[in-house]
Amino acid sequence: MGPTELEKALMPFERKLRAQKRLRRLLGVREVDSPTYERYILGPVRRFDSRKNAFAAMMDGNPFGQAFREMYRRRTGVDSFSKPLPQEELDPSDRPAQALANAAWRLCREYYPGALPITPPQGRFETRDRAGMSKLIKKVAMWLGAEMVKITRVDQRWVYSDREVPEKYAVLVVVSHDRGLNRTAPSHLSGLAVGNTYSRLKFITTQLADFIQGLGYRAVYRETLGWNPEMLIVPMAIDAGVGEFSRTGRVLSPEFGTNMRIKAVSTDLPLETDRPISFGTHEFCMACENCARYCPANAVSFGEPTDAPESMFNNPGYRKWYIRADRCLLFWMADRKKWITCGGKCISVCPWNKPLHPFHNLIRRLAIHSPAGVKKMLVRADILLYGRTVKVQK
Ligand code: SF4
Ligand code: SF4
Repeated sequence: MGPTELEKALMPFERKLRAQKRLRRLLGVREVDSPTYERYILGPVRRFDSRKNAFAAMMDGNPFGQAFREMYRRRTGVDSFSKPLPQEELDPSDRPAQALANAAWRLCREYYPGALPITPPQGRFETRDRAGMSKLIKKVAMWLGAEMVKITRVDQRWVYSDREVPEKYAVLVVVSHDRGLNRTAPSHLSGLAVGNTYSRLKFITTQLADFIQGLGYRAVYRETLGWNPEMLIVPMAIDAGVGEFSRTGRVLSPEFGTNMRIKAVSTDLPLETDRPISFGTHEFCMACENCARYCPANAVSFGEPTDAPESMFNNPGYRKWYIRADRCLLFWMADRKKWITCGGKCISVCPWNKPLHPFHNLIRRLAIHSPAGVKKMLVRADILLYGRTVKVQK
């Protein structure tokens, strides 16, 4: 039987999937049996309470966040993050960017569609070809706008203790930020890049869930944003082979660095999973402290990973780079005329955040396979060439 019309229509994404595999082979990215975050785990993992997430703690009535909310109000004059000033209080040159940022965030913050009804068993699309089904899901997600799609089993350790995700698999969807906008962080424009990326992810993941429900299998769009999170997206994405854990607490992928956002659809659709990867992120982050050096809030840690959590918002039980989320959130409201979220200065200064150009791919390969001294030289060269600015002061 020849390819179906749908398969023909999705052929460009078949080619894209192949090209992504080829690039990882060229870079020398290894697939491994166990996720490399295991080096950071000190003992049995205790599931984390979603209400202790710093964003969630800012919500009125959250029992863990009262002291934090009071301090936040004292220090910033507002009771929560991302409160835009009225347009008339902005410099005219900043008004369009703030207006666009508000527009870009809206879909992500306000779009919570119920899923389409699941097709009953007699109409279910039956197949034993798990590999083929995984490929179809990835291509459909890419057609919807995803830039990378990976699949893993849901590890219950990474589901918040007060949430339930009973489905067996998670489809991890990746979209990168507009690099030009991100480079301006902190600004309304870098905030706009984040909001736009999350909104696109919301669109992709809700439609992907509808598609799978239409095939006759349960699929749920899973919220990963701070104020209503359901699962820890960082270890899930590492399990799926998106990338590895980095100094910023984010996933760093060989293709996008940390310049990406990730959301998930959990599903019962039988799928073939991807494997975690290893390409020396820990070693590179040991040679590079750009995110810590240029974070305007001193929220990213320098030096070696530590087993001392920085605040109640950190999940204890690991020796890793902990992030001071409270400092980060305070900075967001430090100059509301110019920004309403930092938009990721820590992302914009990461040497891995470069286009997928043959020259940068050569440097990527060198960064993966070179000794610590060469890694340090590459970071130094990146700072000089890209004219990293001095730290933004509050
Ligand atoms: S988003 Fe901004 S303030 Fe927050 S950790 Fe990154 S650089 Fe620091
Ligand atoms: S800026 Fe450097 S230290 Fe920070 S995540 Fe990127 S590579 Fe790692």
